[in-house]
Amino acid sequence: MDKGTLKQRLLELKTTFQEQEEALTELDRAIGDGDHGVNMRRGFEALAEKLDDSSIENILKLTGMTLMSNIGGASGPLYGFSFVKMSQVAPTDDINHEDLVQLLTAFSEAIAQRGKVSLNEKTMYDVIERARQAVENNETVTLETLQQFADDTQEMVATKGRAAYFKEDSKGYIDPGAQSSVYILNALIGED
Ligand code: ADP
Ligand code: MG
Repeated sequence: MDKGTLKQRLLELKTTFQEQEEALTELDRAIGDGDHGVNMRRGFEALAEKLDDSSIENILKLTGMTLMSNIGGASGPLYGFSFVKMSQVAPTDDINHEDLVQLLTAFSEAIAQRGKVSLNEKTMYDVIERARQAVENNETVTLETLQQFADDTQEMVATKGRAAYFKEDSKGYIDPGAQSSVYILNALIGED
């Protein structure tokens, strides 16, 4: 993927999150405080004015800084920090398979570090780390693959973030951050 395509895909997430706002709000209403839809929409709406396409590093860094200051809640700093971390391992003009593995590793490690989270705690990390593993193993990762990773959080019990207050009652719902990360990962991984 070249830098122009990456920029385009990140900008298109604005439309995605506008379309998915209500659904994400619903998920966060069930096991949180109902702000995840508006948080994600605001973050990606703000991106439109910010991005230039000077380099992949700059695109990722600017995305991170914009998300950090425009998404509220727990997810803003997590996504923001991750994009800044990805920018630090970014290739210059073009992302090949090896680069993609490096980027996803930086993404996953950033969430694990910031969120103090591991697998099966019912967060965005479940989707991000499983996507990273699949790409590393040369598996084809489609939107459907990513959605399956998010769907798998339904049967988990939340032990991190606001959803943890719901304990066993968090079962039966997809984690909102797991769902939003489906779209972000699809932008980074998806075939042209
Ligand atoms: P808040 O929980 O502050 O209202 P959001 O609703 O925007 O923030 O984001 C909630 C999402 O953030 C959760 O669904 C979960 O995926 C993610 N999250 C919360 N805490 C953590 C954590 N410690 N580690 C990883 N992800 C987390
Ligand atoms: Mg919330």
